Amino acid sequence: MLKFSQIDMPLSYDDKQLKDYIAQKLGIKPENITDLALLKKSVDARKKNDVHFSLTVCFKLSSKRAETVLLRRSKKLSPYTPPTYAPPKHGQLNKRPVVVGFGPAGMFAALYLAQCGVRPIVLERGEDADTRAMRVKQFCEKGILCEESNVQFGEGGAGTFSDGKLTTGVNDPLNFTVFTELVRHGAPEEIMYSSKPHIGTDNLRRVVKNIRADIINMGADVIFGARLSAIDAADGRICSACYVKDGEEHRIATDHIILACGHSARDVFSLMRENNIAMEQKNFSVGLRIEHTRTELDRSMYGEFYTHPALKAADYKLAVHLPDGRGVYSFCMCPGGTVIASSSEKDTIVTNGMSLFSRDGENSNSALLVSVTPKDLGGDDIFAGINFQRDIERAAYKAAGGGYIAPVTLVGDFLARRNSTAFGSIKPTYHPGTAFVRPEEYLPEFACEALRYALPEFAEKISCFSDPDAVLTGPETRSSSPIRILRDGTLQSISVRGLYPCGEGAGYAGGIVTAAIDGIKCAMAVMGR
Ligand SMILES: Cc1cc2nc3c(=O)[nH]c(=O)nc-3n(C[C@H](O)[C@H](O)[C@H](O)COP(=O)(O)OP(=O)(O)OC[C@H]3O[C@@H](n4cnc5c(N)ncnc54)[C@H](O)[C@@H]3O)c2cc1C
Repeated sequence: MLKFSQIDMPLSYDDKQLKDYIAQKLGIKPENITDLALLKKSVDARKKNDVHFSLTVCFKLSSKRAETVLLRRSKKLSPYTPPTYAPPKHGQLNKRPVVVGFGPAGMFAALYLAQCGVRPIVLERGEDADTRAMRVKQFCEKGILCEESNVQFGEGGAGTFSDGKLTTGVNDPLNFTVFTELVRHGAPEEIMYSSKPHIGTDNLRRVVKNIRADIINMGADVIFGARLSAIDAADGRICSACYVKDGEEHRIATDHIILACGHSARDVFSLMRENNIAMEQKNFSVGLRIEHTRTELDRSMYGEFYTHPALKAADYKLAVHLPDGRGVYSFCMCPGGTVIASSSEKDTIVTNGMSLFSRDGENSNSALLVSVTPKDLGGDDIFAGINFQRDIERAAYKAAGGGYIAPVTLVGDFLARRNSTAFGSIKPTYHPGTAFVRPEEYLPEFACEALRYALPEFAEKISCFSDPDAVLTGPETRSSSPIRILRDGTLQSISVRGLYPCGEGAGYAGGIVTAAIDGIKCAMAVMGR
């Protein structure tokens, strides 16, 4: 096969035009090109008067010889061998492994182990995706929070009610495995070639249920409403895991626990401390969500092309460093999405962003985060980061008047250091409601000042960032874990053998794909691979 990179095509191109273009560029007949497939598709919007697609494709010619001849003739081509996917080979363990948490990390760990034929037992404190969706709806509509099943906890983990962006800065061969499994379980095919793959919360809910069904078919057990309550070790090795379900404690004898509990399972960090499991503080971030109308953002990013039907809602990535070295950056940008109430503890406010696959909501939002280092925490208590997050979440709840109403302010008022009193052209999407509160009432001063520095800088890059009506909803505190559970080269805890700290909560992932990859890696380590 041959690979042809950096093909510029107009937004309205079709397959025939693409084939004709390649044939003309290479001086061959279009009918000689077969098996033409997209490998990468991105939007090039650097020049607002020439927004177009940039493509990388692969194709075959009638014979290997014809391909070799063309390869010699054209510098634009390179040989291409498509990656292949094969499920893992069967293996054996003395006892069934336990996977704690059914987020992307736990789910992909369990899938791998199930494919190996070792019948993992999955413990998930939250509910199945459908019941959980009902709980989340109830929370957003009525402000009734279930602390065990919410946007953070339940089938699919924190990713289920997400934007479902599958972008990752990590170039790992397991990316292909994760994407292949997602498509095999119902994700849209386009994630295989999009430069900014996106699946949407609507597709994700279906995919996670399909993965669960597959795992169970292979002999695994997935137990919902099952909260890990204790781990036992003998002679420095894990020997059992305990969980509580419906008020009763159960014990499973096992040699392997993959601990993939996510960053919001604060009780699990306490459990680790009680068991003298080594942990360390790590950097994290806090900030606010900013909302613009989708139309305004699309216009800012795509210029006159902003209504073109081939273009999806625009996204962005922004970052700036303050003179003191602190970073402010956009995170988890959700084009055409909503700001979602993401609390998992009583009387706290936590925001995040989610979207449907269509990304056609009224607004586009993103987190604007300020980096926090252990130095900001004033002490080396392992829980200092969690306490820092929780203080912000509680202060925000109190300042906005309770009932899970989120504090909001307008960008213009924030920059002018005055109270907001009425919305302008942009209305917040957060439910169950919002109240005007200055971020100073719940965010530390350094974070507010950093955001004030960053906003005008961002406005230089994207025009709608200068809109004083843009809405800031806060706080966003759970973008990453403030704690890392230490593991060695075998991916086991440095304190006890057989315990595999995994995924985002343990400090080894920063999104859906990296969490899934870490899950597979821990499962491979369990299988001795
Ligand atoms: C609203 C929202 C939007 C997001 N959008 C994106 C996005 O677009 N793209 C992206 O890459 N990332 C996104 N993220 C981040 C992404 O979801 C996480 O990085 C990812 O889910 C981490 O995976 P994980 O498996 O490590 O942990 P989690 O997904 O947090 O899963 C951990 C699981 O463990 C369970 N658990 C916790 N404690 C226990 C216990 N004691 N016993 C049993 N089970 C337990 C939890 O219920 C949970 O289901 C978003 C997050 C949120 C909240």
